[in-house]
Amino acid sequence: MDEPGNIRIKVPDSKENRQKCICRLCKSYPHDCSGEILFCGVNESKCDINAKTCLCNKCPVYKEYGLKGLYYCDKVSVGESNILMRKRSKEEDPGFYQEVVNIKDESKTGKSTVGSMGSLKKFPFTLDDIYFIPAQVNKIPLNLEEPVQTSVAIGPHSKKPLQVSSPIMISGMSFGAVSKNVRMVISSTASKLGIGFNSGEGGIINEEKDVGLNYRIVQYSTGRFGVDEKILESAAAVEIRFGQGAYPGKGSYLPAEKITDEIARTRNLEPGEASYSPAHHTDMTDHDTMKGKVEWLREITGGVPIGAKIGCGDIKSDVNLLADIGVDFIALDGFGGGTGATDLYVRDNVGIPVFAALPQAYKTLQELGVKDKISIIAGGGLRTSADFAKCLALGADAVYIGTAALIAINCQQYRICYSDLCPTGIATQDPKLMEQLDVEEGSQKLTNFIELTNEEVANLTRIVGKNNVNQFSTDDLISVNKDFAQITGVRWLNGEYIH
Ligand code: SF4
Ligand code: SF4
Repeated sequence: MDEPGNIRIKVPDSKENRQKCICRLCKSYPHDCSGEILFCGVNESKCDINAKTCLCNKCPVYKEYGLKGLYYCDKVSVGESNILMRKRSKEEDPGFYQEVVNIKDESKTGKSTVGSMGSLKKFPFTLDDIYFIPAQVNKIPLNLEEPVQTSVAIGPHSKKPLQVSSPIMISGMSFGAVSKNVRMVISSTASKLGIGFNSGEGGIINEEKDVGLNYRIVQYSTGRFGVDEKILESAAAVEIRFGQGAYPGKGSYLPAEKITDEIARTRNLEPGEASYSPAHHTDMTDHDTMKGKVEWLREITGGVPIGAKIGCGDIKSDVNLLADIGVDFIALDGFGGGTGATDLYVRDNVGIPVFAALPQAYKTLQELGVKDKISIIAGGGLRTSADFAKCLALGADAVYIGTAALIAINCQQYRICYSDLCPTGIATQDPKLMEQLDVEEGSQKLTNFIELTNEEVANLTRIVGKNNVNQFSTDDLISVNKDFAQITGVRWLNGEYIH
C-alpha cells in the first residue's frame, strides 16, 4: 500500500542513510541517472523507471523509518489529496496520466474533481479553421489611416441602448471568484475606455459602486447576490444569467470558509453563510414568468437593455423563447468558457462552443425578423483579436472576454483559482497574495490589451474592405474544414457554400 503525502519528509537525507540505501543493487535502478540514491529521502529519479523489482522493503532504511510503499525511485506526490504515485513517464500522454490521478483523488475523497478556468478539451475544429477573405480588386482594402467605426449599440431598440466604444467587453467575474483588486481594475478600465463590463454575480463592492455606471451590465443571477433595486436602477444594462459556458444547467456553491466578511456583505449574506447559486431561477420557470421578469426589470431600470446569458446547447429553441419574452440582447457563453471553480465532469462534457452556437442564434433571430432589435454577445474561450473579429463575422455584435482579460491584468494560468492560493493576486482573497496585483499597473495592461485588440479588429475590418465592425459578415470568412463550413455557413476553401 502506498504512503500518503510526501514520504520524503520522513527520511532524512543523511550520509548514513545514503550509505545504507541498497538501490544500486536493484534491477530497476536507473543507471542512466547513476548519481542518484536514497529515493525515499531525496527525490524521485529524473529517469524513467523500468520496473523489474524493488528491494526497498529489504533495506535497513525502510525498516528503520517504518516505510510502506515500494519503488520510491518512481514516486511523486500528486493530485489534490497529495497521493504518492508513480510519476508520469516521458512518453505518456499527460491527459491519460491526469485521468488516473483524478480517479485516485475521487476514490480517496468521495468528491468530484474540481477545476478552474475553461475546458482545454479540443474540438475537431476551432475558430483557427476559419480565415478572413482579403479584399483585393473586387473589393478594395482600406488604408490604415482610413477610419473604422468600432462603437456598438447593445439593445439598439431599447429606450436607452448601451453605447460602447468597442465590441470587446469584459464578462461577468464575481467578487469572490476574483479579488477586489481585479474588480477595481476592470471597472476603472472600462470606465476610462467606454467599454461594456459585467458585474458578475457577486454583487458590487463599495469601491466600484460609482465607477463606470454608463457601461456597467448588472448581472441578475439565480443567486441574486447583492442585487437590490438600487443597484438595478444604476445599471446601464441588466443581464439575466440563466447559465454559463463552464457549467450550463448546474448551480454553483462557494463554501462558508471561503466567504470573507466583505464577500458576505457584498453578497447580502449572513456572516458564515455559504453562497449558493441554484441551477435555475426559482421565480422564472416558464415563458410567462420570464416575460414578466423582463418587463419588470425594464420598468424599474427605466428602459435599459435587458438581456439573457445562456450556456450554449439547444440554441434554436432557447433563442426563440428569449426573443419571445422580449430580451434586448442574448449573451451566448460557449463550451470552454472560464470559471473560478466547477466539477470537471461538467466543465469538460456539457455544452457546445460558441462558434457552433453563434450562426444558429443569428439565423434564428433573422428568421424571426428581430435580428436588428436583439444584439448577440459571444463569449467562451475567446483570446485574440482574430477570435473576436471572427465571432463578429459569424453573427455577434460584441464579444465578452474573461480569461484573456485576467491574463492581460496579471494571471499566469496556474489554473488553481478554486484554491484561494492564486499567486498572482487574481483569484484570491488572501491580502498578502492580493498585493501581487497592483491596481494601477493592472489597469494599464488591460487598457493596452483592449486598445491593441480593438485596433487589430479595426485592421481586419479594413482588410476585408469595410469601415465598420458592425458590417462583418460570414461572407468575409472561408473555412479550411468542410464540416465547419457546413455548421457555420461560411464558404469552404473552394469558395462554395456547403449545404
Ligand atoms: S527505489 Fe526500489 S525499485 Fe527503485 S532502485 Fe531503489 S530498490 Fe530498486
Ligand atoms: S527504502 Fe529504497 S530508496 Fe530508501 S534507502 Fe532503502 S532502498 Fe533506497
